Order: sequence, then structure tokens, then C-alpha cells
Amino acid sequence: MAGSKSVDLAIIGGGFTGCSAALHAAESGATVCLLEAERIGHGGSGRNVGLVNAGLWLPPDEIVSQMGEAAAHRLMGPLGEGPEKVFGLIKRHGIECESVQNGTLHCAHSPAGFREIETRFRQGNRMGAPLELLDAAEARSRVGSARIHGALLDRRAGTIQPLAYARGLARAAAAAGAEIHELSAVSNLFRQNNGWLLKSNGHPVRARTVLIATNAYHLGIKSPFRPRFVPVAFSQYATSPLDDVARADILPGGEGCWDTAQVMNSFRVDEAGRLIVGAIGSREALTGGFHNAHARRLLRRLFPALDGAEFEYAWHGTIAMTSDHVPKIVAFGPNALACFGYSGRGIGPGTVFGAAAAKALVGAGENVLPVEPVEHYSERFTGARAVFYELGAAFAHAFGLGLRGKADVPPKS
Ligand SMILES: Cc1cc2nc3c(=O)[nH]c(=O)nc-3n(C[C@H](O)[C@H](O)[C@H](O)COP(=O)(O)OP(=O)(O)OC[C@H]3O[C@@H](n4cnc5c(N)ncnc54)[C@H](O)[C@@H]3O)c2cc1C
Repeated sequence: MAGSKSVDLAIIGGGFTGCSAALHAAESGATVCLLEAERIGHGGSGRNVGLVNAGLWLPPDEIVSQMGEAAAHRLMGPLGEGPEKVFGLIKRHGIECESVQNGTLHCAHSPAGFREIETRFRQGNRMGAPLELLDAAEARSRVGSARIHGALLDRRAGTIQPLAYARGLARAAAAAGAEIHELSAVSNLFRQNNGWLLKSNGHPVRARTVLIATNAYHLGIKSPFRPRFVPVAFSQYATSPLDDVARADILPGGEGCWDTAQVMNSFRVDEAGRLIVGAIGSREALTGGFHNAHARRLLRRLFPALDGAEFEYAWHGTIAMTSDHVPKIVAFGPNALACFGYSGRGIGPGTVFGAAAAKALVGAGENVLPVEPVEHYSERFTGARAVFYELGAAFAHAFGLGLRGKADVPPKS
């Protein structure tokens, strides 16, 4: 970013939310300037598992009981269509991101986990979500693991290479006319002359409207607002490409998976045939050794044939968790919105929230937003709660919780 600019919409942050907003605003004819402190996809968008899921992490009845019937439907409608929106954009803009829309499997890691997905299945179906409950035999043959006790299949969902998707959205936004600036951290944001003035690399951007889309990677900005959330780490580990025999056995249908363990695990196979496993916890924290050991144990346990396989890549990222696990939109000033707090499910939601925020800001008004914006949002004891999550995950990983005990008893299929 250099020189001075004057635009309809300034966007801070180049992840799914910011890039989706830039694309949709530019397509509607608005002038757009997106400022990213690092590179596109530097935050959660470039580090995630790649599961393009519908809805939220929370079971549907919990969303209704927390938000009320009307607000829950206002949110769950667009998020239910999230995967369609994501895969539609990928197709429309020819984004090369290893996209596979063959569904995702929420895998029961234990008999208790199976009861949990049965409940989700009933609640989801009642709300019109086309979920399928798979028994142990069916789930095991799809996953290629004897450790699965059943699964919930959502055929709307799928997998992507998330960094490639974020970059593809940014390219599509640029092609539609948006200015995209990397290495352009915003340091100041304030109200001036009925609009907003941002400073990036010492240069001014004047904007009629502004969107903060920095989520868990928010860097200090002198501004009237900063997102509040509990930062929770999630680490991932990728093997070298599997041989043909293993590939024929492990997830031959290409579904992406996560499980019902309290300290959740994820696994999927990418286009190159690497098995990528993930779990809550930071591999770079002092407790990282426990998470690294857990990843190896998880691999061995799910797929004994891969015992001894080395991980070629490992990385981690930070999730912005809110207390109720529902994403937030804060209207922190006139024509100014911030979207954050996807609580670990941000591919569909980030794309949907970014598109809706752009629409609202460039003229359609707040009714098009999937949640009612609030003027303030705050979370308490975020640092202490982050430590609690990290230590909890380390404890579970150190003692193999969620991988032992009753989970070992094979259920009747
Ligand atoms: C490890 C991990 C696994 C996950 N797995 C999944 C999954 O499988 N499926 C799913 O749906 N969701 C998943 N998520 C959640 C999802 O990745 C996030 O919710 C989503 O990426 C949030 O997108 P975003 O655009 O809002 O924020 P981000 O992608 O974090 O982007 C924010 C950007 O803002 C930039 N920024 C910050 N401050 C400034 C500043 N001052 N000036 C300019 N730029 C700034 C940052 O550099 C960053 O690039 C996962 C998250 C993590 C961390």
C-alpha cells in the first residue's frame, strides 16, 4: 500500500471474510481497498483443516435455545447454504483449491460419541438438514478405520485446500476491480468528515464504509474497536503421500472427518495423498510435545497400517472462540462492521458473513446480515480461558484421553 486512496469500502484483513467481502462489494460496483498485514491467508484461513461444513459447531437445538427461534433461523439458513456458496464461488471463478464436494463425516470416537451424533442427526433432520446417520460398519468402510463407532454424513459439505481458496477469492476480487494490498498493516482507524480514515504503511485511505475482518489474528490498531474472543490453538500434521494400497483403504471417497472426542481431532487425505491429522493444542507451546505425541498416537490408532509413518509437515493456527460459540457482528460506528468469532468453523461462515457484510455496507442495510449486529461485544478472562483450553488439551493428550477406555469396545454395527 502506497499513496493515498478514497474508496467506498475499506477492508482490514485478507482471510475468507475480507476476501469474500472484497469480491462481493467489487462485483456490485463499489470501489474497494483490502489491506492485509502479511500475505493473503496468513491467518486462520491459510492454516485450517479444510472442512467446508454447513451450519455451526453447536447442535441445532442449542443454537435455538441460545438465540431464540427467529434469530437461529436467520443464522442457520445462510450457514446451511454455506458449502453451496463456497463451492459455487470456486466453480464460478475457477479457483484451483483441490475442492471435493463428497461430504464430511462427523465420526463417533466412542459409543457415547455415537449417541451424540444420533442427537445431532435428529435435531438436524428436524430443521431440514439432509444428514445421514451411518452405522459403525458403513462408517468404518468409508474411513478405513476399525476405530470408528458410526458417523454423521453431510453430503452438502466437502474439503478444500484452504490457503488456495483464500488466495483464489483474493484473485477473483482483484479481477472484479478490488485493490488488494499485502504487507499493509492498518495501524490507525478513526472517524473523519462523515467517513473513515485508515492509515496503512503511513499512507491514508479514506473510506465511506469499513469492515474489520481480522478475527483471531487481529494486530494492534488504534481504533474504536478490537475483536474480543478466546484464542484456542489447533495443530496439524501431514504425512508424506500414501502409497496406492493405503489410499485405496483410507477415505477412498475423499470425505473430510472430525470426531466427537471432547478434545476434538480431525483427519483427511489431500489431493497429493497426504493424510493430515489435527487436534486442539499448540505444537509451539511448552506443551507442544504432548500434542506431537498425540498426533502420532492418533495416526497409529486410526490407521495401524501407517504405524511408523513420519510427518513431513506440521503447523498450527489460532481459533477465535466466543463463549456461546456463535459468530459476532459488531456495528462499532456509522457504516462500520466487524465480523469475528467463528469458533472453529469459518470457511462457510467467513464466506457468508463477508458477502453479507459487503452487501450491508454498500447499501442493502443491516437486515441482510445473518446475525443482528451489536454495538459492543466483550469477553471476560480471555487469557486465563486460553490457558485453560491449552492445558486441558495437553492433559488429555498426555494421558491419551478420548483414545482409550470404552472407545476400545467395538460396537455392534
Ligand atoms: C487450525 C485451524 C483449523 C480450522 N479448521 C477449520 C475447518 O476445517 N473448517 C472451517 O470451516 N473452519 C476452520 N477453522 C476456522 C477458520 O479457519 C477461521 O474461522 C477463518 O479462517 C476466519 O477467517 P477470517 O477471514 O475471518 O480471519 P483470518 O483468516 O484469520 O484473517 C484475518 C487476517 O487479518 C490480518 N490482519 C490482522 N490485523 C491486521 C491489521 N492491523 N491490518 C491488516 N491486516 C490485519 C491477518 O494477517 C489475517 O490474514 C480453523 C481455524 C484454525 C486456526
